[in-house]
Amino acid sequence: MGTCENLQFVCPACTRSIEVTESVRDALVESGCVICGTDVDDGAFALEKTA
Ligand SMILES: [Zn+2]
Repeated sequence: MGTCENLQFVCPACTRSIEVTESVRDALVESGCVICGTDVDDGAFALEKTA
């Protein structure tokens, strides 16, 4: 709780993947993919697995 979790974003349109924070995730959902501009939703994000 309260930890800063990184997420892996994989664009469904251009298939680029980038590591993002939750705040960046929110911005991407608002504004679309930074690379191709496609609208994205929560399904495009997965928790980073850090051992
Ligand atoms: Zn894209």
